[in-house]
Amino acid sequence: MAGDKRDYYEVLGVQKGANDDEIKKAYRNLAKKHHPDLNPDNKEAERKFKEAAEAYEVLSDSAKRSKYDQFGHAGVDPNFGAGGGGAYGAGGFDFTDLGDIFEGFFGGGFGSSSRRANPNAPRRGNDLHTSYTISFFEACKGVKKSIDVSRLQTCDSCNGGGSEKGHDTQTCSDCSGSGQIRVTQRTPLGAIQTSKACPKCNGKGKIITNPCRKCSGSGRTRNSTKIDVSIPAGIDDGQTLAVRGQGDGGLNGGPAGDLNVTINVRPDALFKRDGYDIWCEIPLTYSQAVFGDELTVPTIDGKVKYTIAEGTQPGTVFRLKGKGVQNLNGRGRGDQYVEVTVEVPKGLNKAQKDALKNFDALLTDEKQYEKRKGFFDKIKDILD
Ligand SMILES: [Zn+2]
Ligand SMILES: [Zn+2]
Repeated sequence: MAGDKRDYYEVLGVQKGANDDEIKKAYRNLAKKHHPDLNPDNKEAERKFKEAAEAYEVLSDSAKRSKYDQFGHAGVDPNFGAGGGGAYGAGGFDFTDLGDIFEGFFGGGFGSSSRRANPNAPRRGNDLHTSYTISFFEACKGVKKSIDVSRLQTCDSCNGGGSEKGHDTQTCSDCSGSGQIRVTQRTPLGAIQTSKACPKCNGKGKIITNPCRKCSGSGRTRNSTKIDVSIPAGIDDGQTLAVRGQGDGGLNGGPAGDLNVTINVRPDALFKRDGYDIWCEIPLTYSQAVFGDELTVPTIDGKVKYTIAEGTQPGTVFRLKGKGVQNLNGRGRGDQYVEVTVEVPKGLNKAQKDALKNFDALLTDEKQYEKRKGFFDKIKDILD
């Protein structure tokens, strides 16, 4: 049961405060000592090997290690306390990194040949990344763009085979076409038979005698292409679109990668976006605010009329329902919020100043200045 597990530090034989290098070194020593390839049919070695790998998986990961330090096995083992399952719960580990470790010891090839990708297997092309800038309105409404991309594509001269027309590839004589050769290595642990990629054909099993002139035998050429991309309505600055199958072409008949396009949206002078809502600000004149008015309000669909009441205060926000941005999933739209400000006129001439002074002198009813009245009442309370 999980509760019988040995302490991970004890398993690796290191102190609790051991640094990453010490942990790695301890693990490598144990992995080498107990590796199943060196201890065939030795259950005890296999158990120790797995135990060390599990300890290393936790202690080499700073997040897992700190959980383990705080909570012990319960902090890192999802099966802990769940009952059932042996101490080394079925196949919980990923041994793929062991290839790297053993390459470190044996100079490559050890135990990893079976894991190494077959160079003739279909391989997916790389994903490509690019960015593209559109306007605020294009982001709101959606737009189709033709985007320049430089990508690797299957060579149309040799169809990806890599040989010049009229020439076939030849089977590699060193490996008889298998792509693998067996080597015996002397190591401190004895002689080890391994297989490795045939150096003559680079593991492909065949040799291109007359490389295609267009692609130099690689089977792909780099082309600049324009790719039509539909940018959906509602996209926001910094979002990335994945255009399936428009990245680099695959190898050996594998599928193409994707083209990822990060969309930048140019800011608009009038509109600002907040999620799917749009904000804008409308400056009123003093008399518009006093008298009320029918405003012409810009929206992304064009102008609309909106009537503001007499005595509209600066900072008042009104909402135009459904005038925001189309939701990316196609359902519904945000709203538009309009904040009114009042612009104080500057640079008045004498006649204008006199008119305003006369007007001001007429405002004697303090009810006409509700906020000021409240403000000065409060001040009085504080100062009294
Ligand atoms: Zn070619
Ligand atoms: Zn070969």
